[in-house]
Amino acid sequence: MRVNPSLTSRLRIGFLVLFALLLLVSLLGVGRLFQVRVDYEDDITRFFQLELESERLRSAFILEQAAARPPIGQRLPSQAELNRASANFAQAVDRAHDLTGDEADLSTNLSQLVANENAWRQSVAQPLVGGNVPKPGVEQRLTRAVTNSGDALATAARDARDNSREDARTETRNTTLLVAAGLAGALLAALILFSGLINSMRAPLGRLVEGARRLAGGDLRTRVEIGGPVEIATLGRAFNEMANALERDARERDRVERMKDDFVLTVSHELRTPVTVVKGFAEMLTAQRQSLNSRQYEAAEVIAESSAQLQKMINDLLDLARSDAGKLRIEPKPTPVRPLAQRVGRQMRPHFEEKNQRFTVTVEKDLPDVEADADRVAQVLANLLTNANKYAPDGAQVRMSATRVGDEVEFAVSDNGPGLGEEELDHVFDRFWRAQSGETQEVGGTGLGLAIAKSLVELHGGAISATSTQGEGATFRFVLPIAKDGRPTRTEPASRTTAGAAT
Ligand code: ADP
Repeated sequence: MRVNPSLTSRLRIGFLVLFALLLLVSLLGVGRLFQVRVDYEDDITRFFQLELESERLRSAFILEQAAARPPIGQRLPSQAELNRASANFAQAVDRAHDLTGDEADLSTNLSQLVANENAWRQSVAQPLVGGNVPKPGVEQRLTRAVTNSGDALATAARDARDNSREDARTETRNTTLLVAAGLAGALLAALILFSGLINSMRAPLGRLVEGARRLAGGDLRTRVEIGGPVEIATLGRAFNEMANALERDARERDRVERMKDDFVLTVSHELRTPVTVVKGFAEMLTAQRQSLNSRQYEAAEVIAESSAQLQKMINDLLDLARSDAGKLRIEPKPTPVRPLAQRVGRQMRPHFEEKNQRFTVTVEKDLPDVEADADRVAQVLANLLTNANKYAPDGAQVRMSATRVGDEVEFAVSDNGPGLGEEELDHVFDRFWRAQSGETQEVGGTGLGLAIAKSLVELHGGAISATSTQGEGATFRFVLPIAKDGRPTRTEPASRTTAGAAT
């Protein structure tokens, strides 16, 4: 099983390890320094005592000499006195021996002194006590040897003291350096530990941020790889669960949406035939006016009008449902703009005349063909013109124009009617949206015409927009792409044609 400690545990372990390292280094360093100091003080005392002891040895030897050769005129040298003096010397040697420790140099010097004193005692003191005076050369040589080795011991003790001071200094410096290096090492280890900790969090956090961005961008299949400390791994798991739930919801929404579209599509489709039949019969009845009395004729006219409205609404709903289901098909082909504009203008003119509105159509000279389904573009233009006709008051002015803008042809329908407010413009292409104003409510409508216009224009790869100043009128524009081999249409010689005379 892979161990994955939590962030808190990692931090706790990190701090503990760091603390232990620092404590160890500090304790070792301080202990070592303390030891160096103690050793130094011990050595200094020891060597100082050794120096004193070498002075005592010198005194003991002088006493031995005095015992072996008493002042002139006194009694003969006494063996007992010499023995006492020798024992005194031996005691001093023992003490000195204890003080030399494991210093080879000092031990050698001491052994040399003992050996020389021994030789002096054997060859000078003992003969003197026995009444035999040794040869003057021998006594002098052996006495000097003892004195010299005593001096050598004192000098060695002094040197040892100096060396010990020097050693202590060197040891202190080395230990301080070692402790500093240890502390630096511990800090470096801490740095590596913490950067490792941060790195272990950085990658999974980065993945989470990236995932959240993708999810916010609409990619609901986004999932993140789970990793890092427990807390971040838990966050990653929660993120994935959230993404799962979102995807599930979206799928469910899509399913319901599809069901709704299918329902609308089916219902609209099923309604179309009976409504067409009703409309046909109503029109047939109104055509036989002479065989109907006035009440019957009026009723037939109402039925014909209502069924025409119903038919339009069903057709609009059908278009929208098809568009949602991706089943709204257009057949784009190179289409000359002028005849299309003129055709729609001709169809719409009676409505403008009815309201005494001035209606003009302007098509720019040499306009190239557009890549479009003529009937569908005519439907869009008819929707826009119907609105202008419906919402602008009697005597208003309505213009339809087509101009080239870059690689596209722009169609515009404008009127000087009531127009729309800024907020209303934001919703004007929404389905079933209708302005709240009294004028709009007076005029019949479903709020579907502009939504269909938008779908159709976008299906052509174009775009539709509306601008307006409330109280001064509105302009609806849409652009369509120019056909690949879109040659300019040359039908009339006029530089700028205005179709549809002022009414
Ligand atoms: P309908 O005309 O059937 O209500 P539309 O989708 O064609 O539906 O229009 C939506 C709404 O936009 C209309 O109800 C109306 O409030 C507003 N509108 C559309 N064209 C114009 C216009 N030329 N002038 C003022 N308001 C308009």
